[in-house]
Amino acid sequence: MGILDLSGFQNPTGLFVRKEEMIRIAMPLIAEEEKRAVMQVLDSGQLAQGACVAEFERAFAAYIGVKHAIAVNSGTAALHAALLAHGIGPGDEVITSPFTFIASANSILFTGAKPVFADIDPATYNLDPGQAAAKITSRTRAIMPVHLYGQACDMDAFAKLARAHNLVIVEDACQAHGAAFRGRNVGAFGTGCFSFYPTKNMTTAEGGAITTDDDALAERLRMIRSHGSRERYRHEMLGYNYRMTDLQAAIGLAQLRKLEAWNARRIENARYLTEHLRNVAKPYVMPEARHVFHQYTIRVEGDREAARAKLHEQGVETSVHYPAPAHRQPVYVQLGYRDDLPEAERASRQVLSLPVHPSLTPSDLEQIAQAVNAL
Ligand SMILES: *Cc1c(COP(=O)(O)O)cnc(C)c1O
Repeated sequence: MGILDLSGFQNPTGLFVRKEEMIRIAMPLIAEEEKRAVMQVLDSGQLAQGACVAEFERAFAAYIGVKHAIAVNSGTAALHAALLAHGIGPGDEVITSPFTFIASANSILFTGAKPVFADIDPATYNLDPGQAAAKITSRTRAIMPVHLYGQACDMDAFAKLARAHNLVIVEDACQAHGAAFRGRNVGAFGTGCFSFYPTKNMTTAEGGAITTDDDALAERLRMIRSHGSRERYRHEMLGYNYRMTDLQAAIGLAQLRKLEAWNARRIENARYLTEHLRNVAKPYVMPEARHVFHQYTIRVEGDREAARAKLHEQGVETSVHYPAPAHRQPVYVQLGYRDDLPEAERASRQVLSLPVHPSLTPSDLEQIAQAVNAL
């Protein structure tokens, strides 16, 4: 295992490895069930915003434990639509984490509002409620906690902040399908935004959903998703084409049935790694949180690139989520962002995600632990 072999393929880090030996960082699980469901939709003639989408929405809302789920075509669209549905726009500020996928902040920019970054808690990598509180101004309309890597944020603290300052909570739950805080699923605290991109805990290829208990908000979200219309060819407000296809919904329904078993495997795999890894900082799980391990992320104090190269040589693919915080991305620097957020910056230099997905075998897990312990 792990011998450099130029007959293999070149992975994105530039190392040559034998494809069949590499333990991949993510593996979408598509079975016969998904393929059959897609074929049935193709045969039905109802390809977009049809019965399958409605069924997926009911099933996803029930899974999260809310009244409504509105299916859209990406997690980014879910975040954008959620902010718009709350009337957020120019002149408003939305506080979020700088240590996330860029879509969290970009969705705020799309509305014309200003993303305001607050630093993270170095133990959980999630937005620190105390740091967020310090960024509240008279213009703050919403707070967007990101349940990073599959771990719920401290929702007691964010709920308290929202009540005290009359703020909306838009949860970026794009990595946290089935994550919970004190037994309540994320996406049920505020307006929940999910992604079904291929690497997430469940997929529809591309796709997203917004979850809410608020009937009026749900109605606005359905309009925003489809050019501001409730009735065909009557457009009451500005909307978008954020619709999901029934092909995606059919995949989503099949995936949702397996999500709990997959999450349980992720949690088991994470437990194995936490038991067996030595000499690296392992993920901290808050006692109130159900962490569904979208990522299993360690900190590397020394040369991270050298560590990655060694792990890749040992057949373990890794990934960095994320190599730069949002406020250091060129697009934000060009907008004039000059924040100093030391924990987000330190995390960006140190974090390294290891494979934790449900299709890892016991021998894969052993190989990952041995490779990390040999660093
Ligand atoms: C994946 C992801 C998104 C965006 O979802 P897409 O479906 O790719 O648009 C947003 N926020 C976070 C934290 C994500 O991981």
